[in-house]
Amino acid sequence: MAKPFQAIRGMNDILPAESALWQALETTAREVLAAYSYQEIRLPLVEKTELFARSIGEVTDIVEKEMYTFDDRNGESLTLRPEGTAGCVRASIEHGLLHNQIQRLWYIGPMFRYEKPQRGRYRQFHQIGAEAYGMVGPDIDAELISLTARLWRRLGIREVTLQLNSLGSSAARAAYREQLVAYFTTRQGELDEDSQRRLQTNPLRILDSKNPAMQPVIAEAPSLLDHLDAESQAHFAALQDLLDRAGIAYDINPRLVRGLDYYSQTVFEWVTNTLGAQGTLCAGGRYDGLIEQLGGSATGGIGFAMGLERLVAMLAAAGRSGADSVPHAYLIAVGDAAQRTVLALAERLRDAGPALRLRMNCGGGGFKAQFRRADHSGAQFALILGEDEVNAGTVAIKPLRDAQSPQITLPQDQVAAWLCVAALSKVS
Ligand code: ATP
Ligand code: MG
Repeated sequence: MAKPFQAIRGMNDILPAESALWQALETTAREVLAAYSYQEIRLPLVEKTELFARSIGEVTDIVEKEMYTFDDRNGESLTLRPEGTAGCVRASIEHGLLHNQIQRLWYIGPMFRYEKPQRGRYRQFHQIGAEAYGMVGPDIDAELISLTARLWRRLGIREVTLQLNSLGSSAARAAYREQLVAYFTTRQGELDEDSQRRLQTNPLRILDSKNPAMQPVIAEAPSLLDHLDAESQAHFAALQDLLDRAGIAYDINPRLVRGLDYYSQTVFEWVTNTLGAQGTLCAGGRYDGLIEQLGGSATGGIGFAMGLERLVAMLAAAGRSGADSVPHAYLIAVGDAAQRTVLALAERLRDAGPALRLRMNCGGGGFKAQFRRADHSGAQFALILGEDEVNAGTVAIKPLRDAQSPQITLPQDQVAAWLCVAALSKVS
């Protein structure tokens, strides 16, 4: 026998037992995004490698070592998207969505990064993200944060806190960068290998180091917030005021930087300590320079992305399950006449009761075998169509979970209505 295949490391199958919870999460997210009038955009999974290199930044973890890059048959370098913002900006410029317009967009789908797989960190993972274009004030920053806060409330996720920082304008950041390099250079002996390298390429990222040994050096580093230009300071103060008035609590974390190069001003993360090391549920920020950098005319941008695997893990740990997908009824057909008419009957029942989950026996079998399948399906009722029922235009209904209730027989055109009352009211 041939050896069975296995999935690629870090790329998960989402099995039927889990998919209901995913669907519940996705449905709630869609509803919340709609409540803020965000519109869905659907983007290709593959883009030119250059798009990511130019937007995310050459000296980021993603571009340096995490991208799935390949040459297509024409020798063009393509990459499986590691995140959604670059493609969203590319599409918005390409289709003129940013031309003197405001946009509120969202997307959902898989992202690909060649990382070390571990709990909460995979090579194919899923994000829901939102992006807002054409607005530069703190009001839209506050709206996006409120949207995420509402999503947590709707999902019943309570153990999550908001961390907030401002990276300032790119000029302020450049000045700060010099101070940071000077400071870390005086402490060079204490830097780990990654940080040594970043000191040359991307010193702000040292602040993002997860290495415990690095934390004392990082704690004493000059703070970005002391170097904000006046405009960024005003923006950040106004954002905090809006959040205060909306009753959204936050912690200012001056060490919060983002892994991607394109952020400026507001950055935020929603973190939990219930998931172990991979505790960031959602990360976002403002990226006013990106649209121009990708060939559009200069306009504001801000967005966030949340990791769905981490959210699902949190919901599962809280004992949440998704919508029930067990059939309400299992339709058994015994004998030739019943076998010939059962599909038509099943379709009529589904027409009359669109919310019913009806499983029709397929693959033959005598009454006993079919009845056993009905029982295993978890259905509340077995619907039995035999020769007598075909002749009389009826169906026998046998309760499977309630030994007290008797079997009854109903005319076929009354079965759907009866089931809707009996089965659907029981489920809710
Ligand atoms: P980290 O510091 O954890 O690597 P990041 O800065 O690379 O995060 P973003 O690019 O901002 O993460 O992605 C937004 C969110 O997507 C993260 O907060 C997380 O919830 C999720 N995410 C990112 N990478 C992965 C991954 N490899 N597996 C699962 N979820 C991920
Ligand atoms: Mg990462």
